[in-house]
Parts: sequence; structure tokens; C-alpha cells
Amino acid sequence: MTTFTDSFCADLHSHSTVSDGVFAPDQIALRAKNAGVTLWSLTDHDELSGQALASETAREIGLNYLTGVEISVTWAKQTVHIVGLGIDPSHDALIEGLRQTRAGRAERAKRIGEKLASLGMPGAFEGALTFAGNPELISRTHIARFLVQAGYFPEVQVVFDRLLKDDGPAHEPMQWASLENALGWIHAAGGASVVAHPGRYKYSATQFGAFFDHFKDLGGSAIEVVTGSHSVPQFQEYAQVARHYGFQASCGSDFHSPNESRVQLGSLPPLPADLKPVWQDLV
Ligand code: AMP
Ligand code: MN
Ligand code: MN
Ligand code: MN
Repeated sequence: MTTFTDSFCADLHSHSTVSDGVFAPDQIALRAKNAGVTLWSLTDHDELSGQALASETAREIGLNYLTGVEISVTWAKQTVHIVGLGIDPSHDALIEGLRQTRAGRAERAKRIGEKLASLGMPGAFEGALTFAGNPELISRTHIARFLVQAGYFPEVQVVFDRLLKDDGPAHEPMQWASLENALGWIHAAGGASVVAHPGRYKYSATQFGAFFDHFKDLGGSAIEVVTGSHSVPQFQEYAQVARHYGFQASCGSDFHSPNESRVQLGSLPPLPADLKPVWQDLV
């Protein structure tokens, strides 16, 4: 059994070059360890191919590890992200579901490239590919990095704010996985499902209520309360949501890159003490 001490620090949301992070899975493991993380998960978008290297490296350096993935879902016409923790990365239904979820990404990146060309910024699809460590996983982040490198914008966040955010002029909507399917894959693979960064979604209060009810009805486990995407007041707000619905709580930086991420690995405060941490049943 794993025992935790006062220096316990969970970071259960991070990205590698397998999706849109800038470091390889083994490099993130070392960085997490050096940052004081004691329980870590690599949660690449719609991809499991970094899991073996992440867990092997974590074992070698004495870092507790939970397998992870962040699944892109469409619910009420908006994108939500569902993290799966403690999943079996060799589970066939999960692997196949993620393969289908990734399938439209290259075509979508081409369409975004065409939009950007019509706005006077050519070559974005080819440019994004040079930043993508995994050709099956071209994300908006890779396109944004290309536009920064090409000198159109000072930093990635500005590209999202001006062009690529969900309602931005160069955004191309996607039909991602359904909530039913994403939770079905995660649970079939033995994992716990977690609503990633709920504070980022633009639902009305009524829609949020329906979303959390649906997530709970499908056996959803937890929500991220402390995340790099939340402000400090939002830590309290989503702690209340977790209490209200009886959800467990998770904590993760959503680290992608030292220059782009708002918070660094292992730098977030602990969860409110009365909440049940999602990892309690998993480690
Ligand atoms: P994609 O899966 O290609 O739609 O890209 C989603 C990724 O883009 C997210 O995981 C973030 O890394 C990044 N992203 C999405 N929206 C924003 C935003 N408004 N500001 C900064 N980064 C964002
Ligand atoms: Mn990302
Ligand atoms: Mn996300
Ligand atoms: Mn993420």
C-alpha cells in the first residue's frame, strides 16, 4: 500500500510531445519529480502511446504514477475534456475509441490552415506538423506555436485569444466523442472519470446542472477542483460543486510547457481537506 506524508503532492494532469506538450514523457517524469510531485499522471489528449514510457520512468525514479488520458468530448455543442485516471492502457475498447476520436484531427488542421491562409497567414498546416511530435495528434496548440514562430503573434495565448479559441474566427468545430462513450471507455478500462477544468466551459447555469447530472448518471467519479485553469476563487466554487453532487476531487497543473502554462508542475495548493481525493480508490 502507498502511504502519503505531509510532503504529498499530486499532479494528475499534464501533457507530453505525444499530444501538445513540449517534453517527452520521460522528461516530464523527471521534471515532476524535481518539482516535488509525489503522485503524477501523464494525461495526453486522446492518446495512450506515452503511458509505457511515463510509468516506466516514474518507477525508475521512485515517483508514484497513475495512468492517464484526457478525452475530447462534445456535449451540448461545446467541447469538454474528460480525464481518465488509473485506466488499463492496453484495453481494446479504450484504444479503439481514442483512435476514432483522433481521426478527424488532420483534416480539421487543414481546414484551419485554409482559414488562416485566407486571413493572410499561409502554411499553417505544414508548419503545425513540424511542431507535432505525433502526426496523429495535431492540435490547435501546434498551429498556435507555428504562428508565433512565423512572427505573426508574440505568444501562444494571444493566438488563442485572437483566432483559435472555441468561438474565434479561425476555429473549426469538431464532433468529438459523446460523454456516454468517453465514460464507457474509461470505466471499461478500469479507470475513474474526471471532468477536467470545469471552470473553462461556457455553459449556462442550467446547462452546467444538466451536464453534472448526466456525468453523475453515467457513473462519473470526480471533477478537477484545483487546476491550472482555475482562479483561486474557482477552487472554492468547484469545491462546492463537488460537495453538492458528491463528486470526488482531483488536482492537476495541466502543464504543457514552461513558457506557455500558467502554473508549473507540482505548484498548486492541496485540495480542500474535506473533499475525497479521486486517487484514494486508485493507488
Ligand atoms: P484541440 O484539442 O486541438 O482542440 O486543442 C485543445 C488544446 O488547445 C487545449 O488542450 C489547450 O492546450 C489549448 N487551448 C484550448 N483553448 C485555449 C485557450 N483559450 N487558451 C489557451 N490554450 C487553449
Ligand atoms: Mn492541450
Ligand atoms: Mn483540457
Ligand atoms: Mn490538458
